[in-house]
Amino acid sequence: MIRFDRVVKRFGDNVVLDELDFAVRPGERVTLIGPSGSGKTTILRLLMTLERVDGGTIHVGEDCLTHVRRGGRLVPADEKHLRKVRRRIGMVFQQFNLFPNMRVLRNITEAPVHVLGRSTEDAERRARELLDVVGLADKIDAYPTQLSGGQQQRVAIARALAMSPDVLLLDEITSALDPELAAEVLDVLRDLARTSDITMLCVTHAMKFARDVSHRVLMFDAGKIVEDKPPAELFENPEQERTRAFLRSVL
Ligand code: ATP
Repeated sequence: MIRFDRVVKRFGDNVVLDELDFAVRPGERVTLIGPSGSGKTTILRLLMTLERVDGGTIHVGEDCLTHVRRGGRLVPADEKHLRKVRRRIGMVFQQFNLFPNMRVLRNITEAPVHVLGRSTEDAERRARELLDVVGLADKIDAYPTQLSGGQQQRVAIARALAMSPDVLLLDEITSALDPELAAEVLDVLRDLARTSDITMLCVTHAMKFARDVSHRVLMFDAGKIVEDKPPAELFENPEQERTRAFLRSVL
């Protein structure tokens, strides 16, 4: 479903990813952990096409995010191609990024109606279902500022799911929340993981969540994968000293 082949990403002289290879199968839930600056967010931003690679290729399903074939040659993907690919990917950020001037319902229906061309009626029906899923049916008419951070983040999850993405990217989505509100958000995702087969790629410092929902945890350091294991193995029995040191610092 997701495949990075020899991906290189630089910011100036800083080589953040150096020929990175990894793959995520359809329906797999993979968590990226590792110290600050190790390149985790950059991976999600590349997938969301918010950044461009400096080398290598990225595929999501059959679609190549980095190149298109023109007249028998591979050329860098243009904006039109990227827009099409991006529709299959939902992303939730640390800062909830809801539209402040729109009520909850409209926050969720805006993109399905204007980007996917769904009817308002269909989009609203789906939004109500999703608000049930995230436990916020009673907040349908609220504005974002009338909601707690945890509630806003749950609306952001519903909004991402409303686009029926194949892949959901979650970037430290509980880092800005108090523990109690973070727990609400993580419970919603645990339920989603149990009841859907959406492919998830998460960056999180919530190790218990990573352990509960992931099929695999990838430990990053300096843009490289130092360990790639099912969570029980990685957390109970880390092989690499770098992983052990990181886990000691966060657990
Ligand atoms: P954290 O856990 O702190 O979010 P991370 O592992 O997600 O860290 P990234 O945010 O991917 O790390 O950053 C990797 C490196 O790339 C860092 O050295 C960072 O300073 C650098 N970087 C990221 N975005 C940019 C940018 N837009 N311009 C310049 N450097 C950047």
